[in-house]
Amino acid sequence: MKSIVLDEIKVNNNRVDYYFTPTKKLQKYFKANNNLFIEYNHELCDIPESILTIPFLSNVIPLIWITNSKIQVNELDKSFYDCLASLKKSYQIMFPNMDFQGEIIVGKVVENSYEPIHEVASLFSGGLDAITTFIRVKDKKPILITEFGWHESEIKNSDVWDADKENAVEFAKNYGLDNILLQSNYGNFINPRNIDKDFSKRLGDTWWHGLHHSLAIISAAIPLAFKLKVECIYIASSHSIGLEIPCASDPTTDNKIRFASGRVFHDGFELTRQAKTKVVVDYFSTIKETTKIRVCFKNEENCCNCEKCLRTILGIVAEGKNPKDFGFNIPDDFSAHIENFLFNNIKFFTKTNIMFWNIIKQRFKENKNNIPSKFMLEWFLIYDFATERKYSLIKYRVIKFFPILKRKISAKIFRNFESGY
Ligand SMILES: [Zn+2]
Repeated sequence: MKSIVLDEIKVNNNRVDYYFTPTKKLQKYFKANNNLFIEYNHELCDIPESILTIPFLSNVIPLIWITNSKIQVNELDKSFYDCLASLKKSYQIMFPNMDFQGEIIVGKVVENSYEPIHEVASLFSGGLDAITTFIRVKDKKPILITEFGWHESEIKNSDVWDADKENAVEFAKNYGLDNILLQSNYGNFINPRNIDKDFSKRLGDTWWHGLHHSLAIISAAIPLAFKLKVECIYIASSHSIGLEIPCASDPTTDNKIRFASGRVFHDGFELTRQAKTKVVVDYFSTIKETTKIRVCFKNEENCCNCEKCLRTILGIVAEGKNPKDFGFNIPDDFSAHIENFLFNNIKFFTKTNIMFWNIIKQRFKENKNNIPSKFMLEWFLIYDFATERKYSLIKYRVIKFFPILKRKISAKIFRNFESGY
């Protein structure tokens, strides 16, 4: 049977390293050095092995399930061990074309417990979802957890991580909160391309989006949530009710996770992204402050040129506010900038993109009277995303088609010429 053995957990001050051995058939799914590490801004002393095992197990367990393999660990926390069956069931319901099987062999199941001191620790990327959740739980004085999981085999300086960290520390300072900061290679110690090659068709999703990211992100925080005696880890939803997209992070999965005396809560699922935008801009307008909403993926600043940046910018405008007050350095020719982006990119929009943008368009219409005239886009109110996408695609294919056809014809003429015709 295919299997993975967790050989060693090595703790050195504030860093934990996991060394493991997969059998030959599973090796292709991992980078050659078989090492996962996490480094925290807190010492890891006095954290039992049964708790430290959780991040490693969480990162590989979906692979064990979909490959029907076995995983072997020395010790595991009982609460976490007990939640795995229902977690597996939730993923099975989410991805009915896959068979979630496999086996976990634990040398010793350990019961850990504590009296919580902190009610909430909240995952905090600095993005719109995370700030919304912060506003909803701020009275509970949450510890803010910020992560970077994209190191390769070693920790190297990253401007993106420096910017994320700086933002999170400053934000926490403003509200008198503490930070949990951690950096890891959880996004890179696995070979997602090889997993996707074998499974993404049946899964209907990628490994990272469909199965991995949520468990990686939540579990990395668990050792410190244990140490600091946190009752509940909050993770902000990225999707919402009515937009049920299979995704590793979902209330049906995240809310199942348990560790020692702690649990996890998937927050804000009842709110659309536009409703979250309203929560954030209303809150900061009321307290008369500005804030930076960091939405641009793996970027130090919001680029104001990508789909996510522009979607967020328009969402803020639709609530009658100035994106410049929320970390978006938009150009002066605002209308032309958006129009240009759509002209060049509408052909790449998915159904989900169109749905998101239509929600914003709707809000633009409803809230028309509160939108400052310099941001009012009359053309946007009648912009038909589906039709524009269709025309743009036809145009794109025609433009692409002729050079291909020309290449094929000249190749044929050349072949004929070569063969003496
Ligand atoms: Zn961007």
